[in-house]
Amino acid sequence: MTLVCVKDLHKSFGELEVLKGVDLDVASGEVVAIIGRSGSGKSTLLRCLNQLEQHDGGTIEIAGQHLDAGAMTPNDLSRNVGMVFQSFNLFPHKTVGDNVMLAPTVVRGVDKTVAERLAREVLDKVGMLEKFDAYPAQLSGGQQQRVAIARALAMNPKVLLCDEVTSALDPELVGEVLRVLEALAKEGMTLILVTHEMKFAHDVADRVVFMHQGRIHEQGPPRTLFEHPETSELKQFISAIL
Ligand code: ADP
Ligand code: MG
Repeated sequence: MTLVCVKDLHKSFGELEVLKGVDLDVASGEVVAIIGRSGSGKSTLLRCLNQLEQHDGGTIEIAGQHLDAGAMTPNDLSRNVGMVFQSFNLFPHKTVGDNVMLAPTVVRGVDKTVAERLAREVLDKVGMLEKFDAYPAQLSGGQQQRVAIARALAMNPKVLLCDEVTSALDPELVGEVLRVLEALAKEGMTLILVTHEMKFAHDVADRVVFMHQGRIHEQGPPRTLFEHPETSELKQFISAIL
């Protein structure tokens, strides 16, 4: 089943055309890794999917609902789409548990006891349950990012968007976050990840999408893409990062 359907997506910032016609279908349960040079439009694509940016042309359909027709309220959207960023953005004056419970209680009006049960469940899933009462500053970057993932999961999204979620972490903390994402992928979570972790993309993604100058330039199964790149742009990109 197609969960995310993007057709001919266009987005400009003033004169700068950042997305020049992106077509992307993502199936339910699929793990898609988006790679590409800085400035190629990866974040803008994710931000359009999450409606943090309004696209100027083309269509986005998520779980059968059009994002552009004004038919989807922010509440509908948060029901379908979760997003995790490079910077964890936890509220520093709230405990881990409160950070995770915030959106379900405030956005969705979930009862506090139900929200707490849900928060414990998702924190357990990312291995952070024992830090329920801790404050973000008491956690490592990797732990904070795992809490940020739990916070997104607490809204029970159909698809989780991850924008370079390990890029701000010290190298020794990257693994614990990638392991959480890998476990989610194994559980059947639909994931669209912008990542520089090529080994992770290679091992975990079902499909790798290479963006170049606002378009999907090449895509395919990880092994095909990494071992037999076709375009000179992808060849260059791969040789630059290896
Ligand atoms: P990537 O994530 O692949 O590095 P981005 O999608 O962040 O690329 O950015 C693509 C281009 O769009 C860059 O040239 C960037 O400077 C520009 N851009 C992104 N967001 C904005 C914005 N809010 N206003 C103006 N320009 C932007
Ligand atoms: Mg980016």
